[in-house]
Amino acid sequence: MVKFLDIQRITASFEPQLSAEVQRVVSSGWYLLGQEVAGFEKNFAAYCDSAHCVGVANGLDALTLILMAWREMYNWDEGDEVIVPANTYIASILAISRAGLTPVLCEPNEDDALIDAIRLSGLVTPRTRAIMVVHLYGQVCNMDAIRPFAHQRGLKIVEDCAQAHGALYKGARVGALGDAAGFSFYPGKNLGALGDGGAVVTNDRLLARTVRTMANYGSREKYVNQYKGMNSRLDELQAAVLNVKLSRLDADNDRRRQIARRYIRQISNPLVRLPQVNTWLGHVFHLFTVRCEHRDELQRHLANQGIQTLIHYPIPPHKQEAYQEWSSLSFPITERIHHEILSLPISQVMTDEEVQCVIQAVNSFEL
Ligand SMILES: *Cc1c(COP(=O)(O)O)cnc(C)c1O
Repeated sequence: MVKFLDIQRITASFEPQLSAEVQRVVSSGWYLLGQEVAGFEKNFAAYCDSAHCVGVANGLDALTLILMAWREMYNWDEGDEVIVPANTYIASILAISRAGLTPVLCEPNEDDALIDAIRLSGLVTPRTRAIMVVHLYGQVCNMDAIRPFAHQRGLKIVEDCAQAHGALYKGARVGALGDAAGFSFYPGKNLGALGDGGAVVTNDRLLARTVRTMANYGSREKYVNQYKGMNSRLDELQAAVLNVKLSRLDADNDRRRQIARRYIRQISNPLVRLPQVNTWLGHVFHLFTVRCEHRDELQRHLANQGIQTLIHYPIPPHKQEAYQEWSSLSFPITERIHHEILSLPISQVMTDEEVQCVIQAVNSFEL
């Protein structure tokens, strides 16, 4: 039996330090807005080669707060547009809607499933304000094409880094490749808390300050409210957990890459298409996705061999009931990816034997 993701084993791999840190915070009697969060913000900003980090409650809030802050800073109107990949996890798109802006969906590249920079110019209107890039599955988007495109048109770039903690683009960390970035520390992410958590990372001091205010009921000074804000905080317990886990993130990502390399070298089934890796150092393999025209049969075959897999994601956002207004739109590449994609187990705590089991099971699939 190979689990898709053994979170219990991941947590155990950080013991006894993790429980000691939790106990220390529990005993301190200080649970919000304290030195654990301040320390993590400093460490995570430094890790991302970025000037500022603001801890928030989750990844969806991080992205939403960035857009809400920009609306205040630049007087963007309700309904102004943000371009976003059509094949992302729906949270990227929900953040745009929640900030009162309009998501404009962009097809991905067929090969790497990342936003297709060539298509951006066809989507820009006088109301476009920003591009949200999503480093999906842990691989970085084509920033060399997207950055000049955005800068020439005065568009902001927000990175959705929820699947890409520590990924590199030509030596530079994600989180500092655009104007601001949102991270999630959901337990299953490459850097995961023991519950919810998130962060905004940016080099823009004013943006960091506005996000911090917006996340604190819109208040900078107690009982004085500047914006219609929200309450979105990373708590002290999660920050202490994240500080422990951050110290091993690069090593954990290395192990994921090692497993991915073995999958790519040793999976050789003509029915199964391996993922395109743009650069090995840049990819942190939050997910290892293969494609197969007979995806459901492949998933059943693997389940019969004791291998758990998941589909990221089964229904594209434009086909969700939540966005009924898009139900007649057609995004053939996005739809094909959703129809064919399957995520194999990958994590820093998988054993070599488990990796071998997955490889053999995939290679033994036939119709
Ligand atoms: C997980 C995820 C999010 C949302 O993060 P939460 O912390 O669960 O709110 C956003 N975007 C992408 C691409 C994700 O994978």
